[in-house]
Amino acid sequence: MSDVSGAELRALMARVPSVEKVMASAEFAVLLGAYGRTQVLGAVREALDSWRASAQSGDACVSALDVAQLKNSVEAELRQRNESRLRSVFNLTGTVLHTNLGRALLPDEAVQAVIRALTQPANLEFDLGTGKRGDRDDLIDELICELTGAEAATVVNNNAAAVLLTLSALASKKEVIVSRGELVEIGGAFRIPDIMSRAGARLREVGTTNRTHLKDYDEAIGPQTALLMKVHASNYAISGFTKEVSLDEIAPLAHARGLAVAVDLGSGTLVDLSQWGLPREATVRETVEAGADLVTFSGDKLLGGPQAGLIVGRRDLIAKIKKHPLKRALRVGKLTLAALEPVLQLYRAPEKLTERLTTLRLLTRSADEIRLAAQRVQPVLQRALGERYAVAAEPMFSQIGSGALPVDVLPSHGLVVRVADGKRGGRQLLALEKMLREMARPVIGRIADDALRLDLRCLEAADEAQLIEQLKGARA
Ligand SMILES: *Cc1c(COP(=O)(O)O)cnc(C)c1O
Repeated sequence: MSDVSGAELRALMARVPSVEKVMASAEFAVLLGAYGRTQVLGAVREALDSWRASAQSGDACVSALDVAQLKNSVEAELRQRNESRLRSVFNLTGTVLHTNLGRALLPDEAVQAVIRALTQPANLEFDLGTGKRGDRDDLIDELICELTGAEAATVVNNNAAAVLLTLSALASKKEVIVSRGELVEIGGAFRIPDIMSRAGARLREVGTTNRTHLKDYDEAIGPQTALLMKVHASNYAISGFTKEVSLDEIAPLAHARGLAVAVDLGSGTLVDLSQWGLPREATVRETVEAGADLVTFSGDKLLGGPQAGLIVGRRDLIAKIKKHPLKRALRVGKLTLAALEPVLQLYRAPEKLTERLTTLRLLTRSADEIRLAAQRVQPVLQRALGERYAVAAEPMFSQIGSGALPVDVLPSHGLVVRVADGKRGGRQLLALEKMLREMARPVIGRIADDALRLDLRCLEAADEAQLIEQLKGARA
């Protein structure tokens, strides 16, 4: 407890400047200019109240309050309160399309288009030819059809929405046949059986987890069947004694029985990635050619664009989907369309894609180039961390992420930080991980095998310079 006597306390209180005097002071003019009267007034009142409360509770540390001191604390409070919660980080996790870190990074063409759409009116739903009301899908559907070979296309908020809308429009109160091996859950809260019931469709499971045969689909078809559906297994792989029925076999069966096949491709690439040494995935065009009547895929996975769900396929089915009331609820905003169009246009020059499309540039970055970056950053990080940690540049493997198979890995390079005295140092590694996460621009790595691993695949030149600056500052 304090030695502040009643008389001293009264004297301290009497010297507290009034709110009016504080607000009118020269010190506060700058704050008022930056933050406006409402916020500053609120923060000043809070600061004075809390000062009075600690003085009254007899906090011995309380001394006379002056305006300059008050200004510093109010300014710090306001600055912190107005900091954006969505912050840039360094993605050194080794997962290029990291869902929790925002997936695809967009090329500058898309950024510029978004800025225009944000700051200037645009023909979002306005037909410049007729002067009448237009359809926002018209801005982009021809381009999607050109790149996929589909008859028609539409775009919604994300691929989960694309699947929900497709099932709601085409299979409500009816049955959808899916192999048990494809009833997947994709990163938190997207589960095929749940989406199916939300859409009002009945799931008809066929086959077993590891093996499904064409005859299983054939026998399940009945008067209630609306659709046959295939789902990309995305984030898991079944190996060993397995049998999956390919689209080439399912499509003719469905069509012979007058039914449609929908394929949820997940990542949905528009180009054959194996030409750059990446894992082979069926492209959207190949899926359409193999007989899929509808294909759904994400905009911000391998495609490298903004968050969106693309639905392509037969004209009559797309028309039905577009008429469903959920389409209006799940439609994309103008920022999405603005960003998506220039990304799709990049695909018209496939030979330039590894240069221009950020996602593909990161995925195809050579391990040699990444090694050079690791060798440049290594001494800076070592100096910043001091002698308690040992930093080494070492080869490692990156993942594509976002539903490309987790077993597909890309040779990369990065920094491996171990506790210097050779102990396993679990607690020290956690402390280091936290320290990096709390930097001005947080550095996100991962702990594995008693080391903190920082994969530099996603650290391109400008970011590398910024990371080096930040680490140099941390040392000082
Ligand atoms: C990722 C994924 C989804 C969900 O896509 P979002 O764009 O994240 O909504 C759905 N199905 C499959 C197969 C996926 O891989």
